Amino acid sequence: MRRLLLKNGLIIDPVSGSEAKRDLLTEGGRIARSGVLLKAPAGCESFDAGGMWVLPGLVDMHVHAREPGAEKSETLASAAAAAAAGGVTSMLLMPNTSPPMAAPALLEKYAARARALPVNVFFAAAITAGRAGKKLSDFKALKKAGARAFTDDGSSPEDFAVFAGAVKAAAARRPLLDHPEFFSITGRGLVNAGSPAARRFPAIPPEAEFFAVLRDIYAAAACGPVHLQHLSLAASVGALRAAKACGLPVTGETCPHYFTLTDRDIKPGNADFKMKPPLRSPADREAVLEALADGTIDAIATDHAPHERRLKAKGFLAAPFGIIGLETLAPLCVTELALKRGVPKLRLARLLSANPARLLGLSRKGGLAPGFDADITVLDPRRARRVPRKFFSLSENSPFKGRSLKGWPVAVIAGGRFIFRYGRPQFC
Ligand SMILES: [Zn+2]
Repeated sequence: MRRLLLKNGLIIDPVSGSEAKRDLLTEGGRIARSGVLLKAPAGCESFDAGGMWVLPGLVDMHVHAREPGAEKSETLASAAAAAAAGGVTSMLLMPNTSPPMAAPALLEKYAARARALPVNVFFAAAITAGRAGKKLSDFKALKKAGARAFTDDGSSPEDFAVFAGAVKAAAARRPLLDHPEFFSITGRGLVNAGSPAARRFPAIPPEAEFFAVLRDIYAAAACGPVHLQHLSLAASVGALRAAKACGLPVTGETCPHYFTLTDRDIKPGNADFKMKPPLRSPADREAVLEALADGTIDAIATDHAPHERRLKAKGFLAAPFGIIGLETLAPLCVTELALKRGVPKLRLARLLSANPARLLGLSRKGGLAPGFDADITVLDPRRARRVPRKFFSLSENSPFKGRSLKGWPVAVIAGGRFIFRYGRPQFC
């Protein structure tokens, strides 16, 4: 049986709520036990994690892998390499591919392809036919084909009857995730209303997100659970907090750029600062940080949105929305949340592993207790390194290039095997 012993790491297990310096033994792809001075069984590989943080493998519930349709920007394999380098052992892919993941046969085809990769790849299926926002998908058939969640991410049906129907159809099956944005309000907007950049570029009124969040909360109250994607506004996290206080089945995620950057950071000549929702005000960033600290926000996801250089080079007006995020996820969370703001390590592990695993119904992921899958991310909280200009992703559209961060992954394990070590993915 394949065994691996991690020695002397700070084992951070959000499921048991424990944080202690221990050894951790994996056997046959599962966590076997943890303890002090565990002896390596014969033939067991061992890894010195002294001074490191040992977390359950990160679960990123918001990734765009661009296959099929835009393989020059990313493929399943390159997304898996970027995930491994970022400490992400499980990822949920969004359905806005070309064609979209709205047909069972297509989903089956790509799910089979993804099974060859050492990272756990899950697929979200579209809630409307062709992701067109009009007619509901066949939820039953898509679940049978392997859909782990449902969303039209990239957009959302603005018609309430359609959206409510989707929430109802998903309720007994898989999580319903929503991209809360009303395009009728966004219009041609590119940047946050009221920001300095809005003097040069068309603005997106905050109501484009906020009204959609309110609609989603109403749908959750009436029809079933809804998970709010990439929340960026003080008003949105305030509404989520109030909805949770009322006992409504609503959850939410944010992304590292919304707690790290603000609309004041935008460089108008650099389209790597263009994403949706847009970067918000400093007050919004503070509110997002507060909602992360008090448990209002359930998960941190990257919204990894690769675009090949040619497209981002078109300039702020013409370039597509989105930034990559997989490879900077862990160091941004460690640096900005744990080291700068004192967010407890256990809270970090909940936001990055335990909660997204629970939201996606991955019962053996997100923890480090015996019996859990041996998906493990080892981070170095001390050594600072600059975000490189080149990534394992095929794209490089990151606004964080050159930024000095701590908390980089040094070893990443999935199913008891190293998938990242010595500074590079251990496959492909
Ligand atoms: Zn989205």
